Amino acid sequence: MKSPRQLESLSPTQKPGASTLAVHAGEDRHKLGDSITDPIVCAATYTFADTQAVIDFIEKKQPREEYGRYGNPGEKVVERKLAALEGGELALLYSSGMAAIVGLLMAKLNSGDEVVFFDECYHRSREFCAKHLSRFGVVTRQVKTCDYEAMDAAVTPQTKLLISESPTNPHLSIVDLERFAAIGKRRGVETLIDATLATPYNVRPLEYGVDYVLHSATKYLAGHNDLLAGVIVGAAEKLEPVKKLRGILGAVNSPHNIFLLERGLKTFELRMQRQNANGQEIAEFLVAHPRVERVYYPGLPSHPYHEVARQTMRGFGGLITFLVKDANWQQTAQIVDAVRIPRIGPSLGGVESLIEQPLVMSYYECTAEDRQRFGIYDNMIRLSCGIENCEDLIADLKQALEQ
Ligand SMILES: *Cc1c(COP(=O)(O)O)cnc(C)c1O
Repeated sequence: MKSPRQLESLSPTQKPGASTLAVHAGEDRHKLGDSITDPIVCAATYTFADTQAVIDFIEKKQPREEYGRYGNPGEKVVERKLAALEGGELALLYSSGMAAIVGLLMAKLNSGDEVVFFDECYHRSREFCAKHLSRFGVVTRQVKTCDYEAMDAAVTPQTKLLISESPTNPHLSIVDLERFAAIGKRRGVETLIDATLATPYNVRPLEYGVDYVLHSATKYLAGHNDLLAGVIVGAAEKLEPVKKLRGILGAVNSPHNIFLLERGLKTFELRMQRQNANGQEIAEFLVAHPRVERVYYPGLPSHPYHEVARQTMRGFGGLITFLVKDANWQQTAQIVDAVRIPRIGPSLGGVESLIEQPLVMSYYECTAEDRQRFGIYDNMIRLSCGIENCEDLIADLKQALEQ
């Protein structure tokens, strides 16, 4: 009897699409109680029939669970699903995107090592490196986003990791993944892309030779603004020390959280298609609106990295950043306050649209000088398009801009 687990073996001739993978990949065909869904296994520990069973497990003769901090059955299913979606060998889940970043950096870096970042990066990643890894003797360098020569020049014999996001947040710059990965290959340095804003539906960085892809699964992958999770995908051998350290750090997902993530993933492709479409249409509406000074969206021909985006991405996502014409921060806040459908809040990628003013939401405590350096302007608004009907979102933005 055939009981294939990997979807590839279900259809040897046809490469499954993103929805087929999102729905089926990584799951056993036959589940507990003949259920179609995976069970929530609420166990902190797992028992052994006898001493020999313990020894067989330790000698790796019998794959199975041991203790909740090292994983649970649902987590393994979702890890296989995410590895299949990303086209990678192994996925490691964490309790948040930040836990995943911290887990990878702690496993890979030693005192005296150096990391090089493109400077438009998630502010907490930057903070972890600059404020905390520095306490352990790790040196962080930053170069201008998409300046590949500067990144190459920043590499020294101590450099262990090159890091970027793509698209970046909130400027939506798009990294040429081939060039980025090539620097790492040529200089013998590993590369990491935080592709949270892209998702494996829009781009799969491993195909360009990047070593590790990281996602805050809190965003598009889970997609419902109802949980936190993070994931790293890459080659099993390279991730082995990262996996070992994860079992020590303990930033793991509860079985209930895993269940929600697996459930959210089922509609991953449908949500991405809608959010890509909403993003594109709303960006086109905004760029044509007289009250808008500038729109950052890689799907617009005016975007500085539109050509790279067009060549490498299937869609450009649901995140749009724009500047309001001749507005100070209070006038900008009035627009944020006037929209009726998007809720005011941090985060992105969920089914509910969210709106925020980066100055207030994430950079309020920064000095004006730092904000200028990070490219955070007083008249900047960030909109994360959800899956609501596009015409409703456009009508709403229109009334808010025209008040
Ligand atoms: C949200 C986010 C993170 C952090 O993820 P959490 O799940 O909130 O810990 C990292 N990178 C990017 C690009 C993000 O948007």
